[in-house]
Amino acid sequence: MSTPEKQPSTAEIPYERFLDCVHCGLCTSACPTYLETGNENDSPRGRIYLMRAVTDERIELTPAVSRHLDLCLDCRSCETACPSGVQYGRLIEPFRVSMRQSSGNNQDWFHRWILYGLFPYPRRLRWALGPAKLMQLLKLDRLIESTGLIKLLPQRLQRMQRLLPPLKPREPDLPEFLPAIGEKRATVALFTGCVAEAMFHHVNWATARVLQHNGCDVHIPKSQACCGAIHYHSGAGEPAMELAEQNQRAFDLEQVDAVIVNVAGCGSMLKDYGHMAAELTGEEGGRTASLKSFAAKVKDVSEFLATLGPITPTGQISAKVAYHDACHLCHAQQIRQQPRQLLSMIPGIEIVPVEEPEICCGAAGSYNLTEAEMSDRLGQRKAKNLLATGATMVVSGNAGCSLQIQAMLRQQGREDVAVIHPVELLDRAYQANSPSVTH
Ligand code: SF4
Ligand code: SF4
Repeated sequence: MSTPEKQPSTAEIPYERFLDCVHCGLCTSACPTYLETGNENDSPRGRIYLMRAVTDERIELTPAVSRHLDLCLDCRSCETACPSGVQYGRLIEPFRVSMRQSSGNNQDWFHRWILYGLFPYPRRLRWALGPAKLMQLLKLDRLIESTGLIKLLPQRLQRMQRLLPPLKPREPDLPEFLPAIGEKRATVALFTGCVAEAMFHHVNWATARVLQHNGCDVHIPKSQACCGAIHYHSGAGEPAMELAEQNQRAFDLEQVDAVIVNVAGCGSMLKDYGHMAAELTGEEGGRTASLKSFAAKVKDVSEFLATLGPITPTGQISAKVAYHDACHLCHAQQIRQQPRQLLSMIPGIEIVPVEEPEICCGAAGSYNLTEAEMSDRLGQRKAKNLLATGATMVVSGNAGCSLQIQAMLRQQGREDVAVIHPVELLDRAYQANSPSVTH
């Protein structure tokens, strides 16, 4: 028989949030885990019921109950589907913090050393990626895969190895300031992220160039930190708050019109700083109020450009593009049209519709490392839907989704389908002086 964990203290979650759910079930068909398992306990309605029952002390937090809650991707697709306005993310996230506290903040080696000790630090991560880059260069990565030597690594490190994209030569570090090109229209700061800065440094450069091209002075503060999503979404509230406050100090809000972010997961976390602080500190003023002011300035790059009025590119890129809706853009930030608008401005781009566009690809932050089986099922489902479009390119505004989709396409032998960020395409179109670039 499974042993119950100590009941979590969920005093921080206003009880009315549970009561917003009227159990209508309209969210179930939007929930990726329910679609895969068909188990009501793996649906939003079922999970809300479980969290409320634990809070009421009608049931104990057994490992089986925790399992259903852990399997949630926090994709927030249920929030889009719910007609009653249930704030599911604001239930599961603080509940996970409470679960972790009630288990004595115990985390396994992978969380301590890799997720919290390596990923939030771009320099450490870059250093750690050095040997992987060399292995790719010498094609040893394929050798260890084909000979089965990869199986000598712990499971989660095997998954990390398989998720690695072809690592590009690194452009120079971004300077602290890049001036607007042409007439100045805005002053912005760029949030560069942690995993994104180590693995998608070229996207940060492309974002900075696109902003400059659109008349923005771009500040890139050196003292900025990881957004804290890795911590908060796995229940580590205190370090997430520390990172939030470091970011708040790093960005001079008086100086800029917006803090620009190009990773959906980070953007959603940065915009949620005020909510997170209220839940963790139980106060509305003080630290919460400061973090709310910071959050109010955060904009996804597509959202910002759409409001600013993007300059139309003249360079042509001939490609059939499948746009992938990242959950933390479409569900958490309600950003759907803006990236499509940017793409459709590029001469030669054809955007093709995708089946189940708003069902998670299984990346979900670190979920694809910690919940291998469900992540693979959702990843294959997404890859099948994307490939069925006949697209030559997949465009995604979230680093985690890009890694996951690339890995799934590789598994299917479809490395020819490039996975790219929308600003990279826009950057290429601005830079393309030649009449046509074909992809
Ligand atoms: S979360 Fe919303 S859609 Fe789902 S059962 Fe509750 S009220 Fe209905
Ligand atoms: S956040 Fe996503 S996985 Fe979790 S219950 Fe809602 S729809 Fe399902």
